[in-house]
Amino acid sequence: MPRLPIRDDLQKMQGYHSAQVTVPVRLNTNESPYPPPAEFTTELGRRIADIAWNRYPDRTASALRAAIARSHGVGADQVFAGNGSNEILQTLLLAYAGAGRKVLTFEPTYQLHAHIARITGAEVVSAPRGNDFRIDQSKLAEVFSTHSPDVTFVCSPNNPTGVVEDEKTVRAIIDSAPGLVIVDEAYAQFASWSAVDLVDESRALVVTRTYSKTWSMAAARLGYLVGPKWLVDEIDAVVLPYHLDAAKQIAGALALEFTNDMNSRVREIVASRDQIESAFSALPVDFWPSGANFILFRPRSMDGRKVWSDLVEKGVLIRDCSSWPGLTNCLRVTIGTPEENNLFLKSLAEVLSQ
Ligand code: PMP
Repeated sequence: MPRLPIRDDLQKMQGYHSAQVTVPVRLNTNESPYPPPAEFTTELGRRIADIAWNRYPDRTASALRAAIARSHGVGADQVFAGNGSNEILQTLLLAYAGAGRKVLTFEPTYQLHAHIARITGAEVVSAPRGNDFRIDQSKLAEVFSTHSPDVTFVCSPNNPTGVVEDEKTVRAIIDSAPGLVIVDEAYAQFASWSAVDLVDESRALVVTRTYSKTWSMAAARLGYLVGPKWLVDEIDAVVLPYHLDAAKQIAGALALEFTNDMNSRVREIVASRDQIESAFSALPVDFWPSGANFILFRPRSMDGRKVWSDLVEKGVLIRDCSSWPGLTNCLRVTIGTPEENNLFLKSLAEVLSQ
């Protein structure tokens, strides 16, 4: 039977995957190790029972957007919500990238930025990060004049390095980038500052966030952006009608009533992150101080892939970044519960001492 070939520009692309192995300790996808509070789940069940399931949901997700806006001290017309921050990124790229436009990434960074940009038909250009995986401010003018990107991505804290960019660097990027700047803040709650405060009607800056990490809601697929009103108006052109289901809208607004619980979990994870970083200092690994809920590290004298597979044998799954460009031999571990972290550290010490 004749088969329609996939678009020429997609033929060499592969989907985005993370190895899913069934093991007792899963520290590979940067989720929260804890479920949301029980009161949240009980109340959500109640509210979901009241949904008029035969009707389409509120198309503009007005209650959710108002709740998110309040949490950031911005207007509801500066917020747009979607099915995970990946969908937010896709929406932005559909609107502002696409065929004939250029998207700039600072590598190594979150692979989906380039991946989604290519799916929209855009050309992806990249600039290398400098020492310690930081964006080199002194090279910005050259990078922007060489590439003239329509869209520039800044991921802070950066996945998979955990590095938080200085406010000075992010301001310099916003001031000198020729097009739209997207600051991906999937992990912002674990960091010391946020670019949300820089969002302003006069700047082509948008900040993206997710409920998948801090809010313990990876299963819900909910993310959002905070940006200028004109941008929120414009992206309406590419959004599917009723893209955000009623249950998710309710879950997202309800979660914000549990901000104190979430903040205390963030403090716990940050404390565990500090403990793992001090444990790393006593092991034969290099690591990069992290502002996220994960840490990138590199065994000094053992093959990264071997360390990863030996850990899997011991029932601990982390992320193998060892063959990714610019990350030779590197591995990334998500902060888990104290028990999971101890098991990881104990197994790692055993593997490294073989
Ligand atoms: N941005 C970054 C930097 C991420 O690491 C992730 C999750 N891996 C996302 C966006 C997507 O998050 P989600 O779609 O679950 O909101």
